[in-house]
Amino acid sequence: MTYADTQLFIDGTWRAARDGATIPVVDPATEETIGHVAWAKTADLDDALEATSRGFRTWSAMSAFERSKLMRRAADILRERVDSIAATMTREQGKPVAQSKGEIMGAADVIDWFAEEARRTYGQVIPARAAGVQQLTIRHPVGPVAAFTPWNFPVNQVVRKLSAALAAGCSIIVKAPEETPASPAELIRAFADAGVPAGVIGLVYGVPADISEYLIKHPVIRKISFTGSTPVGKLLASMAGSHMKRATMELGGHAPVIIADDADWEKAAQQMVMHKTRNAGQVCVSPTRFLVDQKISDGFLEAFSKGMKAIKTGNGFDDGVEMGPLANDRRIPAMEELIGDAVEKGAKLVTGGHRIGNKGYFFEPTVLADVPVSARIMNEEPFGPVAIVNRIASLEEGITEANRLPFGLASYAYARSHENVERLTSGVEAGMLTINHLGLALPETPFGGLKDSGYGTEGGSEAIDAYLDTRFVTTAH
Ligand code: NAD
Repeated sequence: MTYADTQLFIDGTWRAARDGATIPVVDPATEETIGHVAWAKTADLDDALEATSRGFRTWSAMSAFERSKLMRRAADILRERVDSIAATMTREQGKPVAQSKGEIMGAADVIDWFAEEARRTYGQVIPARAAGVQQLTIRHPVGPVAAFTPWNFPVNQVVRKLSAALAAGCSIIVKAPEETPASPAELIRAFADAGVPAGVIGLVYGVPADISEYLIKHPVIRKISFTGSTPVGKLLASMAGSHMKRATMELGGHAPVIIADDADWEKAAQQMVMHKTRNAGQVCVSPTRFLVDQKISDGFLEAFSKGMKAIKTGNGFDDGVEMGPLANDRRIPAMEELIGDAVEKGAKLVTGGHRIGNKGYFFEPTVLADVPVSARIMNEEPFGPVAIVNRIASLEEGITEANRLPFGLASYAYARSHENVERLTSGVEAGMLTINHLGLALPETPFGGLKDSGYGTEGGSEAIDAYLDTRFVTTAH
């Protein structure tokens, strides 16, 4: 397949950076340079800021009904183009084509859902204390948004921010990932082709720290949304705070999977093999710490490890491949260091643990057992296909371990009795808990974390609130 170079999208035009600078893009399955992405500098960002200012005036003046129609058209265009965009995504990011298609179809659903939400940004009439007084609240778009998204879900990470912002009436500049630039550009092309006016959406790439620092501080930008690691999130949130900008932070996790003694552990093992290896584990909600009751832990460990070992790893374009390469060269040493440290500290390497071959960033699905709390991997997000299986003596011990870390994004549990389900529901400190099935990340349900995993939700009926101000108007007649 051909892989096109990616340009900036500024003021309704696809264009190179003013100085012509570009960044190479590498196929993680072959390590070949497959294309280039334009590298925006300050002059390009100034163009994008000027355009987003105008775009905001145009878009916020348009009725929610019209905005909603354009968004739904973009969703339909995206669905029509799913095959070609999925191929582009697999080429630049590595995931199997079926997962790329799933991501794009899911993105179209997100757009449709927010398009509907656009029509429901209701205000209130508040009963007044005096006769002849009318008290109203009115929802206004917060203003131009700057969004920063990572490479693990090149389209999905953009679409949640973009759709919520557009639904609310905001314009947006997206700083999409330089490592996987072409598929998010195709998402934005779908909106442009649907008729979203010039300036409403901007798309830039470059040096992330340079762009975020410039955009977050800039007076035109009123709202920040970031998905990525906790340390970078804290840096950007503090920058946003010092300029009094609203912020949504979707950061790292270290998801626990608590499996109670009465759980259907065979179902858990089967579901979790697929879930752990999805996108090669490079998912903020990826299950990481399996905390399994000691009465069933041997059976679970055997079934889960067997399933992990059987996963077919390879180029995402090849038939039957279930797990592609890691997305970039940084992930291989990151996996090796975390696994080496755990084994050194006494963990048992049950399966996997090594890079596959020496071309492409392929890594074996890996299971570590009996990992001490002192191991780095018990405390740092692995962001790869590595699972930890530890025994617990009771549900309480599992909940205590689940809550030990400063993260609180996704969590998983398997249990049958009402008492156990109730204890998990009230005890696990996480933004999302899915019990006995995989039920996260639908457009209509909340998606976000607690504690160091960030704040704000990118799904559900509250998601649009992050892009709206509430204004109060009281009138005496
Ligand atoms: P990283 O922390 O440098 O980058 C993570 C993402 O943040 C990238 O998309 C990067 O472009 C962006 N970023 C980094 N510094 C930035 C800045 N100053 N301003 C704006 N954006 C910035 O590391 P990485 O090697 O790309 O990824 C490693 C870690 O990042 C992973 O271990 C994982 O914890 C985290 N991550 C999380 C997600 C997620 O979905 N929450 C996605 C990708 C990476």
